[in-house]
Amino acid sequence: MTIERIRTDILILGSGGAGLFAALHAHAAEASLDIIIATKGLLGKCGCTRMVQGGYNVALNPGDSVERHFMDTIEGGKWLPHQELAWTLVTKAIERVTELENEIGCFFDRNRDGTLHGKAFAGQTFDRTVHKGDLTGIEIINRLMEQVCARPGIRRLEEHRAVGLIPSKDGGSMAGVLLIDIRTGEFQFVEAKAVLLATGGGPTMYRYHTPSGDKSMDGLAMALRRGLRLRDMEMVQFHPTGLYAGPDTRMTGTVLEEGLRGAGGHLLNGGMHRFMSDYDAHLERATRDVVSRAMYAEMRAGRTTKNGGLYIKMGHLGPDKVRKQFKGMVERCDDCGFDLAGGLVEVVPTAHYFMGGVVCNVDTSTDFPGLFVAGEDASGMHGANRLGGNGVANSTVFGGIAGEVMPQWIAANPGHSVPDEAVLDAEAARALHPFTAKPGDINRLRERLLDVMWNDVGVIRDRTGLHRGLSALDEIEAELLAIGAADSNRAFNMNWHDWLNLRSLVETSRVITLAARRRENSRGAHFRDDFPEPGDLASSTFTVACQQDGRVAITDEPVLFTIVRPGHSLLSDKAAAE
Ligand SMILES: Cc1cc2nc3c(=O)[nH]c(=O)nc-3n(C[C@H](O)[C@H](O)[C@H](O)COP(=O)(O)OP(=O)(O)OC[C@H]3O[C@@H](n4cnc5c(N)ncnc54)[C@H](O)[C@@H]3O)c2cc1C
Repeated sequence: MTIERIRTDILILGSGGAGLFAALHAHAAEASLDIIIATKGLLGKCGCTRMVQGGYNVALNPGDSVERHFMDTIEGGKWLPHQELAWTLVTKAIERVTELENEIGCFFDRNRDGTLHGKAFAGQTFDRTVHKGDLTGIEIINRLMEQVCARPGIRRLEEHRAVGLIPSKDGGSMAGVLLIDIRTGEFQFVEAKAVLLATGGGPTMYRYHTPSGDKSMDGLAMALRRGLRLRDMEMVQFHPTGLYAGPDTRMTGTVLEEGLRGAGGHLLNGGMHRFMSDYDAHLERATRDVVSRAMYAEMRAGRTTKNGGLYIKMGHLGPDKVRKQFKGMVERCDDCGFDLAGGLVEVVPTAHYFMGGVVCNVDTSTDFPGLFVAGEDASGMHGANRLGGNGVANSTVFGGIAGEVMPQWIAANPGHSVPDEAVLDAEAARALHPFTAKPGDINRLRERLLDVMWNDVGVIRDRTGLHRGLSALDEIEAELLAIGAADSNRAFNMNWHDWLNLRSLVETSRVITLAARRRENSRGAHFRDDFPEPGDLASSTFTVACQQDGRVAITDEPVLFTIVRPGHSLLSDKAAAE
């Protein structure tokens, strides 16, 4: 088989907030380095950073502090976050937002006195979510893209899909990445001295989900195959307000932003009862996990609309105000036949964000020399729950750090490693597997996966369901391996890519299920009906998944309280009470 070879210094996989920031910072650190961004979609048009609606958490305004932002992150994460990573996130966010405005060219909404406007987001003790209306991600990605395009030293491989991380012949470091040029179907092997994994996670294996369609957990599936450790894999965040626009539209599951609840929106069940009062004192402003669980419980009890969903209502806040404050949301609902400003909109909880990911250090390095990770592919910053607004902060903060660190790594480790040709050939053969079997119904298998994960490994879990889920995943994988792509032409063969997407999703779904079975308590996004208690916070552990010889083992490791211990706070009693 033919594999074209390309050489570069730094290869960045993914063009979201993490990937683009990494490219800009690496270029700024050492302009003579050759940098390639390889991305599955089109630059500026793919991934979830572009989809960010609500905004960016940053402690800028009087009354707020990095300590307060940190405590919200730790408490929201149910004491599972890696504290040094969380601290880096909240402190560097200030630098990054300033950079976004002053160097990248973003304009965020302002208060009358010229300071940046921070909106309310659920689960936070301060209104610190900086935004551009409710289309913040478009502002961030468009400006980042302009900056990247203005630098010829940053090359781009668009519509290029990474399929395998290739180690050096001695197995001691990264040698490069095998890609498929989606347009031609041909393979390319990019040899690189440093590689950044920034493919953005993306739990698109659930019946209702929000992330962009190009995300299918490829990065984590590749990392698993290379034997990297994955942390917190049971932690899938469900956003409470996914639009329900009917069974046959991609609009179903897309997110209606958190600010709607933050601004005072009400959630109603099919009987028009404001049910959150039955579940939590914070009502609709409780954290995402609490609200999603309450909604799922209402749905399970059958107290739904005739379509099986629930309602969000904003009209009591004044339709004109809602139209002005949530223009994008109002238009999106209108496109689907709903009046968000004055009427009722049907909603369901929807899989939104993946807290799990590759184990990494504060400088974004991983266990595998030469491989770095940032954004939603990385883990540890959020623990059991990501605060709304901490996602884009995470990708831009750590993407920037990776961009600074990779040139340093290259300075200390110059020269390309000799690749392990056997692994390269095996990865190519693996990717071509669908051309060796008779065509089959990939979509039917995908539909089954969506149902299995939603019903058995979703918002509320128990041992019986998780076992059932594991058996079903084995069946789906066996069936998938027995069928192939509909067309043998590899150029723009989306059926082939659907097959590859599904394989990544099935493999990572199994790890999610195993980690969920392992955690016999309920923390944040992970809720076990059979183990509803959180367990002792002071002896908190996190799960670590590692694959060896094709089998995934899950172990527990203790959370290190390096900055603050459960029962304590970085805030004074007075500040905490304010
Ligand atoms: C609808 C929506 C709204 C959101 N709103 C907010 C918000 O208000 N505030 C907030 O903080 N967070 C929000 N988030 C979360 C936030 O978008 C993410 O946390 C963050 O943007 C992830 O950035 P990233 O760079 O890691 O990944 P992404 O921006 O998702 O980029 C991933 C990139 O990897 C590429 N890729 C994927 N697979 C491959 C492969 N195999 N090979 C090569 N490239 C690949 C993709 O094409 C894409 O370019 C929202 C998410 C969604 C879905």
